[in-house]
Amino acid sequence: MECIFCRIVAGEIPADIVYQDKELLAFRDIHPQAPTHILIIPKSHIASMTELTSKQQALMGRLILLAKKLAEKEGISASGYRLSESTGADGGQLVPHLHFHLLGGRKLDDMLG
Ligand code: 5GP
Ligand code: ZN
Repeated sequence: MECIFCRIVAGEIPADIVYQDKELLAFRDIHPQAPTHILIIPKSHIASMTELTSKQQALMGRLILLAKKLAEKEGISASGYRLSESTGADGGQLVPHLHFHLLGGRKLDDMLG
């Protein structure tokens, strides 16, 4: 298994896991860009947004709602936060396993590129 996030799902690489269920995993980014920096991923290997189909509609809905819940748990709901996703080379995606960054706890820069 080469995918680093699949290896985290499998427990082969340690991670600071903040939530998991059958389908979703959330863990702290190893190089946090903000006081809260959590990565939320589907446990199944989906390389990027380009692979998503309507089959993942409910899964993606659950992922977004999990982000909302984790923001509340982290205490950043009132101050605000960013949920971001990068796709492919131009998007700046480094790890080819679909993931959403939940960032907060400081005023975030304009990252619209
Ligand atoms: P991308 O640029 O692909 O959207 O972001 C990948 C993110 O994964 C980066 O923020 C990076 O710090 C994080 N990351 C890469 N390898 C690991 C790892 O082994 N463990 C954890 N917790 N985060 C990682
Ligand atoms: Zn993977």
